[in-house]
Amino acid sequence: MHQFSGLLEINLSAIQHNWLQLRQIYSGQDCGAVVKANAYGLGYAPVVQTLFSAGCRSFFVANLSEAMDLKKLLGEAAEVMVLQGCPSGMEETFLSHKVTPVIVSREMLDRWMAALQGRVAKYAIKINTGMNRLGLSLNDFFQWLDALGEVKSSPPPIALLSHMACADEAGHPLNDTQRERFALAVDRARSVFPKIRASLANSAALFLGEPWHFDLARPGIALYGGREGVPEHIDLRPVVTLTLPVIQTRDIKRGENVGYGATFQADRDMRIALVGGGYADGVIRALSNVAVGFFKGHKVPLVGRVSMDSCAFDVSAVSDYEQPLEGERIELLGPHCDVSMQAASAETISYELLTRLGERLDKRYVERL
Ligand SMILES: *Cc1c(COP(=O)(O)O)cnc(C)c1O
Repeated sequence: MHQFSGLLEINLSAIQHNWLQLRQIYSGQDCGAVVKANAYGLGYAPVVQTLFSAGCRSFFVANLSEAMDLKKLLGEAAEVMVLQGCPSGMEETFLSHKVTPVIVSREMLDRWMAALQGRVAKYAIKINTGMNRLGLSLNDFFQWLDALGEVKSSPPPIALLSHMACADEAGHPLNDTQRERFALAVDRARSVFPKIRASLANSAALFLGEPWHFDLARPGIALYGGREGVPEHIDLRPVVTLTLPVIQTRDIKRGENVGYGATFQADRDMRIALVGGGYADGVIRALSNVAVGFFKGHKVPLVGRVSMDSCAFDVSAVSDYEQPLEGERIELLGPHCDVSMQAASAETISYELLTRLGERLDKRYVERL
């Protein structure tokens, strides 16, 4: 069918390249991958298969249904950990599907242990080292360890996790604080469970330095081309290219407006291109009047408010003989329009832009480097 759909190309070779790149930088043993929220909106099946064939064997998702989707793809071949843990009453379901919960509170931990009734099952524990999101307090964790010292019958947790609040800001004082608290907890945990693996680093923490690496890494966004907290010289490839097709162009006079609310006013005569793709496709309204697209070597600013199904670009800079024709495409995300920069212009982050990309887009997986 021929229609004015945005085209979303997802480059699986770039995902593979990015994972291998991170694994090279990582000094620990096991570089995993975070694939929650449908692999940051890019599609579980192709992304997970790509990462698996690159050698990734530890996957992190947010909840049970995401874990079940992954189990269908991977069977027993890889570890799948559920970051939000096991909700009350779901213990048997986790056990029967061999899904590993990341236990995030003392209550959840007690319920899990009671449900095991002596059976062996994998689980991980997450502690709070300063972000105050999910995780046992250090006190609760140490108390639990101390109480175990006498019992010693519990199966060992496979991993101890914590999550960084400010890893994308190298030099933030909380980075050291969290690392120190985590290292202390790892030492205490190892005195009871010598083989427990320690996992602290998300993508950005890998670039804070080796003291943040520990045994099991959990990168997400950098795999998908997001550069928040990633130094410029690191060779990550853009994964997503979003191009929007021109529906029509029009010439407007100086002083005329563009779009809902007339928020853009032309300061000169100009030519604008109206393209298919709006906030229903994930071109969020915060990109209005701030995003910059790319067409045939020219930067083309997005002008006026993004509508549900369309938006407009100022293509005045494009020479007459290159003017966009119906169906030609303007790049909004891709090699010339970095997803993290585009997100920053809208005062958000690449994570949000990626996970909002809409169902209506024509989605294609490509493999090229
Ligand atoms: C989402 C998430 C990650 C991945 O973080 P990125 O910044 O995308 O690399 C790692 N750990 C936890 C607990 C998460 O929730």
